[in-house]
Amino acid sequence: MTNEKQPIYVMPENTQRTLGRDAQRNNILAAKVVADCVKTTLGPKGMDKMLVDAMGNIVITNDGVTILREMEIEHPAAKMMVDIAKTQESEVGDGTTTAVLLAGRLLEYAETLLDMKIHPTVIIKGYKLAAKEAEKILNELGIAVNYDRDDILRYVAMTAMTGKGAENDKEKLADLVVRAVKKTYDKNNKTINFEDIKIEKSKGQAIENSELIEGLVIDKSRVSIEMPQKVENARIALVDFALEVKNPEGETRISISSPEQLQSFVDREEKLLREMTQKIISSGANVVFCQRGIDEVAQYYLAKNNIYACRRVSKSDMEKLSRATGAHIISSLSELTSSCLGKARIVREVISAEDKLTYVEGCENPKAVTILIHGGTEHVIDEIERAIRDGLGDISSVLNQGKIVAGAGAVEVELSKKLREFSNKLGGREQLAIEQFARALEAIPSTLAENAGLDPIDIVTELKARHDKGEKYAGVNLLTNKIENALEAGVIEPLKTKTQAISSASEVAMMILRIDDVLASNPQKSNKNSSMLQSMNEEF
Ligand code: ADP
Ligand code: MG
Repeated sequence: MTNEKQPIYVMPENTQRTLGRDAQRNNILAAKVVADCVKTTLGPKGMDKMLVDAMGNIVITNDGVTILREMEIEHPAAKMMVDIAKTQESEVGDGTTTAVLLAGRLLEYAETLLDMKIHPTVIIKGYKLAAKEAEKILNELGIAVNYDRDDILRYVAMTAMTGKGAENDKEKLADLVVRAVKKTYDKNNKTINFEDIKIEKSKGQAIENSELIEGLVIDKSRVSIEMPQKVENARIALVDFALEVKNPEGETRISISSPEQLQSFVDREEKLLREMTQKIISSGANVVFCQRGIDEVAQYYLAKNNIYACRRVSKSDMEKLSRATGAHIISSLSELTSSCLGKARIVREVISAEDKLTYVEGCENPKAVTILIHGGTEHVIDEIERAIRDGLGDISSVLNQGKIVAGAGAVEVELSKKLREFSNKLGGREQLAIEQFARALEAIPSTLAENAGLDPIDIVTELKARHDKGEKYAGVNLLTNKIENALEAGVIEPLKTKTQAISSASEVAMMILRIDDVLASNPQKSNKNSSMLQSMNEEF
């Protein structure tokens, strides 16, 4: 019958299908490529990457998640690796490179097992057991720290910031970060609201001049030099509309036939503006932050009444000002009453190298703080900002969970050792997978050493020997290039960074291993532009 020979399409014709071992190999390879990409940035001696986008914008960074976010990754398995970094960033704020590197190794070693004809489900089962046991072991290895141990918190911040261009000033920056977190930390709920910490950047001065301001810093100056440079006992109005007389949309013509008419037109505009400012003055405000423009006439009246005003303040700054000072953002002047106003001890203009900034200090909400980063160039400042964000994330992880671990590869080697002991007690083929899991953890000390130009095999062998002797905090300190007690050397990390990195890395590795069939529809590349060009050419 003719019917039998007809092909049956269950999927669109251009769907690409990869099956079985090929699909696995392909996915593992993609994951490995992603891991290799960030590998060289791990640790204090890691290298930086320079990323240039289609518009020519440059980012120079050592931060795993930033690199992966900037790269336009297409492969679905590779995208899953990028997601690990994103989850790590949002959950704990640091440890992104570690997580991605670990996932890459877990998959690489799983491939060895696949080559030995071990079924993926066996590997997955082994990895699952290992991940669960790892979490248990890590919790036992974690050391409790108290809220008052500022010295330890500073070490945690410094460990987070090393390798990110903050080297020379890391003590100063670590101190800023610890003080910022402590100001905002809510002891009762054991939480910290990162919205309370604003990071503001100013170009020109040296990094070491970076400071913590108890209040907000807005990168705007007062709108007119006639205005006071500082206002004490500030009562702050936040307006999100222009203090201008609205011009009608589109082109309008006003025909004026006599000088009197012109004068009356100008007078009317001025009257409207005067009325606007009068409303602000009578509300009792002495500081105005406006999200849009402020007309010169309005500026004049505000200045005459000793009001400090900034214009074109960003929406996010308006929201921060509202949180910090208790002011309501108003959308029309009729809403403005004295109860809408926020409070701060002082609002002043500060000139900092190339920038003029407005400081709002002594806010009603004492939790609002700003870390003002100084630095020579934008690229430097941006990388310092990423370092500071890592530091903030790490300290709040420590305060939340109250536990730390020894860095510099120490905790990974100890964990790996304990996992091997665990696997020896188990029988079956899963044991092989747990061993590979333990081996994958060694990627951290090995890569740290490799990136610093040390011999990774020597270092890992030595570390393992030391741990076998019971030195459970032995790590490779890259500031001295020696194997030593990482806790004493001050290389300290939050426990949470490690548990999260291991759990998300193993989850994604298992998810990728479970895939044995990839069906990818191949969207026709849109040729809209070229066909449009073609038709244009035909027309002419
Ligand atoms: P991630 O994105 O995973 O946080 P980093 O580049 O920040 O990657 O590197 C973190 C690793 O660097 C951690 O394993 C940490 O223990 C290690 N590290 C930090 N400071 C030192 C040091 N002085 N000596 C050795 N290792 C260090
Ligand atoms: Mg880090």
